[in-house]
Amino acid sequence: MVHFVGAGPGAPDLITVRGKKLLEQADVIIYAGSLVNPALLEDCKEGCQIYNSAVMTLEQVIDVMKQANDRGEDVVRLHTGDPSLYGAIREQMDALDALDIAYDDCPGVSSFSGAAAALNMEYTLPDVSQSVIITRMAGRTPVPERESIASFAAHQATMVVFLSTGLLEKLSEELIAGGYTEDTPAAIVYKASWPEEKAFRCTVGTLAQTAKEHGITKTALMIIGNAVTQGNYRRSDLYHPAFSTEYRKAEKGES
Ligand code: SAH
Repeated sequence: MVHFVGAGPGAPDLITVRGKKLLEQADVIIYAGSLVNPALLEDCKEGCQIYNSAVMTLEQVIDVMKQANDRGEDVVRLHTGDPSLYGAIREQMDALDALDIAYDDCPGVSSFSGAAAALNMEYTLPDVSQSVIITRMAGRTPVPERESIASFAAHQATMVVFLSTGLLEKLSEELIAGGYTEDTPAAIVYKASWPEEKAFRCTVGTLAQTAKEHGITKTALMIIGNAVTQGNYRRSDLYHPAFSTEYRKAEKGES
């Protein structure tokens, strides 16, 4: 059996309890070497075979999975953050389906959650934004035209941009073309939850300059929108004394 497991954003104690158990029981681990913290591999069982997928093709990954499965062994395919985001898991699952190999998926803490934590930030502030757009700039992997940054920018929702640290000037241009002003709050979070984590608040107009000043060229997320500066939000009704919920009666008056 193959278990796809989300490793979390970097800190070894940000993997789920289930993911950690699967790692400890695995006979074979294939980990995404570019972004998974190798400290996660320290508690694997004796004799466990470890492969770094950064130097492997899809075919080689599937071959390792198949051989292990033929031996009746358990495989963990360890992806950074949560496997469902930019994890290239669908193509692996399709290949496993074709070979009739069983698999499941254990979620992880995505780096976009890790980045919010680094900034002590809430993405969904009432009256500021109630939506998070997760996207990327087109790189070698194209992005469908209907999902252009400019078209998303028009919503003025909180936006989290993956895989685009080398394209920040273009990102700013597209955000501005879509309707954000240059002084819209933004942030860059580098290696969220790793010991070398860095987080900088800036603006849409200063994204590229901020990354340059701090030597950030990869492994970062860009966060855009007024929620970054936690401006004029409305306090929640859920915890308001004048508001009754299913679990709590209002202190005075009902709303
Ligand atoms: N599945 C992963 C994303 C993989 S794509 C997840 O859920 O987080 C790889 C991109 O994710 C990187 O280029 C970077 O944009 C982002 N990323 C991954 N780990 C990160 C971290 N600890 N801090 C900031 N960005 C990170």
